[in-house]
Amino acid sequence: MSILFNEIVFGPVRSRRLGTSLGINLSPVDGKLCNFNCIYCECGWNEDNKPESFGFHTKSEIKEALDKKLAKMAESDEYPDSITFSGNGEPTMHPDFAGIMNDVISLRDRYTPAALVSVLSNATLIHKTKVFNALKKADRAILKLDSGIDETIAIINCPQGTYSVKRIIENLKSFDGNMILQTMFLRGEYNNQLIDNTTDREIAAWLNAVTEINPKEIMIYGIDRATPAKNLQKISRNELEQIAIKATLLGYNVKVSG
Ligand code: SF4
Repeated sequence: MSILFNEIVFGPVRSRRLGTSLGINLSPVDGKLCNFNCIYCECGWNEDNKPESFGFHTKSEIKEALDKKLAKMAESDEYPDSITFSGNGEPTMHPDFAGIMNDVISLRDRYTPAALVSVLSNATLIHKTKVFNALKKADRAILKLDSGIDETIAIINCPQGTYSVKRIIENLKSFDGNMILQTMFLRGEYNNQLIDNTTDREIAAWLNAVTEINPKEIMIYGIDRATPAKNLQKISRNELEQIAIKATLLGYNVKVSG
């Protein structure tokens, strides 16, 4: 069963990775909008969850919704650890992502200055100057790279346009380390193809990518909820820890969510 958020601002929810997280959904509230179609996406397949309206909420609607929610939370002395761009798809696809980032930061500063502004993104649009500059303003730009091998990305993430690991790595390097790399590890079978991004070859390619990108932190995680592809297996916490050790030995700060 897929999870879709029918509000602009949702939660706060308890996040494995971010603590108490107040979510901001920049995608349409009646469906999913993403330029990936990950086989593990909690929002389900793109084709099964097409938004009917296909409309984005405006910058001012989003600002008003967040303002109201933060004011209400402050009244009851409730403060989130994170204000997180997430929801029904890829937040950087919103045409006013940069302006919304500015609004979110100023509302955070007014109501809950200790909260970190986080963005969960698939990193496909970071070549756009406006998106890149907006992500650099976030406290945590958490950017996805699920494999260092193009063929694996094609199966796991099903990019809707052209995608090149080499080009994404080059773009991620532009953050000068001021970003968090997120990787989902999984194995299973989909469309008669075996999937496993934990093999020796995969981990070697992933560690090469990590070394090139040089992130300030790495988040690795496994499947937590129902996935649209049926034959996927959760990687055990122990295996994730073993992968984490390899990156830790290279000097990286790795957080594991099993
Ligand atoms: S990038 Fe995120 S929202 Fe898009 S399909 Fe993958 S998991 Fe879902």
